[in-house]
Amino acid sequence: MSNRQQVSANLQLEKAKFERMGSYACSVVYSSKFGHVCPVCAGPKGAKFALCKACGDAKKQALALQPGGIPLADKIRFGHYAYKGEQMYRVVQGYKDTADPAVSEYQKDIKYIAADALAVHYSCIARLTGSRPTAWATIPSTKSSRNYGKPHILTNLVSPFMDRVGIQQLHLQANAGKEHNDINPQVFALVAEGQKPDLRHVLLIEDSWVSGATVQSAAAMLRLQGAIYITVYCVARIIDLSRVERGLGKDIADGYRTLSYRDRCPWLLERHPV
Ligand SMILES: [Zn+2]
Ligand SMILES: [Zn+2]
Repeated sequence: MSNRQQVSANLQLEKAKFERMGSYACSVVYSSKFGHVCPVCAGPKGAKFALCKACGDAKKQALALQPGGIPLADKIRFGHYAYKGEQMYRVVQGYKDTADPAVSEYQKDIKYIAADALAVHYSCIARLTGSRPTAWATIPSTKSSRNYGKPHILTNLVSPFMDRVGIQQLHLQANAGKEHNDINPQVFALVAEGQKPDLRHVLLIEDSWVSGATVQSAAAMLRLQGAIYITVYCVARIIDLSRVERGLGKDIADGYRTLSYRDRCPWLLERHPV
């Protein structure tokens, strides 16, 4: 494909994505002037805290794991917010459910979001982080998930984009054993393969983030394996707005409710030519 054709294909994809999900896919914010957004996970937080409760706990737990602590993911970006009970939430909950009559539509949404970040704007990862990813992986369902052991649909959906990039694919395995909501690198293992893993910059791809414990546990495991830089891309940041309202107040929940779709780069958070 020529450069011009590529640009036009990119523009078409952006336009189609907006037409398809512009009414329900809210764009993610990583800060607010009132201090109510966690800079790590884009979730709600109290203004007097630096991080939300989950990210604060994760940081503490990671510090306690070994002397000096284990650094968690370096950079985290999300596709869109998914508010519990709303359409984007149905998409991330339903895209793996082959019994759901809307499953193929849900998968199409996920594909559009992934294409935006992992095809159209892929080169922006290096602009944001200072280096190109050297390897990528999706995170397998853990034992406590109803999808444990099932074929990984997200991997199938993002593989066409990542194949084009051509970097090494890592395989993570969810270990048996107790499952809880803490940062625990032992929940995952890196499957040994013929090729030595190139862990200079790992791009971890996941579908949803609730507390972040799963993703950060995978990041911690990779760190122990020698990963130098870890970028996380998560399709959806799941938020329960009624819980936010009860815990942090109506203003903060309403702040999230006023967000809408913004046509911009999911990595650099600005509009730029594609
Ligand atoms: Zn957070
Ligand atoms: Zn971009």
